[in-house]
Amino acid sequence: MEPVVELQHITHVYVSDREASLALDGLDLKVYPGEFVSLVGPSGCGKTTLLSIIAGLMKPTKGEVMVYGRKVGGPTAEVGYMLQQDYLFPWRTIFENASIGLELTGRMDEEHLAKTVSLFEEMGLEDTRDLYPQQLSGGMRQRVALVRTLSTEPGILLLDEPFSALDYQTKLQLEDLISETLREKNKTAILVTHDLSEAAAVSDRIIVLGRRPGRILRTFEVPKHIRNERPLLAREQRGFHELFHEIWREMEGAGNKE
Ligand code: ADP
Ligand code: MG
Repeated sequence: MEPVVELQHITHVYVSDREASLALDGLDLKVYPGEFVSLVGPSGCGKTTLLSIIAGLMKPTKGEVMVYGRKVGGPTAEVGYMLQQDYLFPWRTIFENASIGLELTGRMDEEHLAKTVSLFEEMGLEDTRDLYPQQLSGGMRQRVALVRTLSTEPGILLLDEPFSALDYQTKLQLEDLISETLREKNKTAILVTHDLSEAAAVSDRIIVLGRRPGRILRTFEVPKHIRNERPLLAREQRGFHELFHEIWREMEGAGNKE
């Protein structure tokens, strides 16, 4: 099977007038169609840098990113990006916010609008279409952000800590909703999270990064019987706690000490 995302020896150096810092050092990674991969690692290990590079928002100092076998030269419609902050515009209604991607890419046609309406139903947002962002809870706003990301039909979703600003119960519900939606639509996803239990509950594969410079320390395959369950139930499966503790130990390991 061909990977949908392939990182080839990605190295990134941030340069300021005073210093140069090596954020990522020779990172290789292949992500396959329909896979859900999580990146975990301490703050500052280069997770956001890596997602920005995959999204084509930043050019790596060295190395190549291939998406669907083609070199990435800038942002493309094939890759959707969702962040911790929802960046909804307060002066636009919820539906106008969710359809902004279609507007910007000139696809406000009947077909795409109908698909967006059905995404609203899937996300339980049908009654919010004419409301404004400030009238919605944090969890609902993140669901609107997800509709906005999915409306342009990217095959790949990059998720940078999308649940970390939410309260615990909302976070669990949203994890479940997002992971089921992406699985059902056969999307490929790369999630950045600092929550190891979340990573173990939603992923097929977990990649632990170390810092200074950012590099892959270890990869965990999530056992089939855990990854086949929805996140809430995955946490109750045999072997889940062992997996969690193994990832935890890796995080505590040499690469991530100060
Ligand atoms: P993470 O998302 O894992 O917390 P980042 O990718 O944001 O990490 O940052 C990785 C490293 O690069 C950190 O040491 C950070 O300080 C540095 N860094 C991030 N963005 C910039 C920037 N625009 N200029 C200089 N250094 C940066
Ligand atoms: Mg980050």
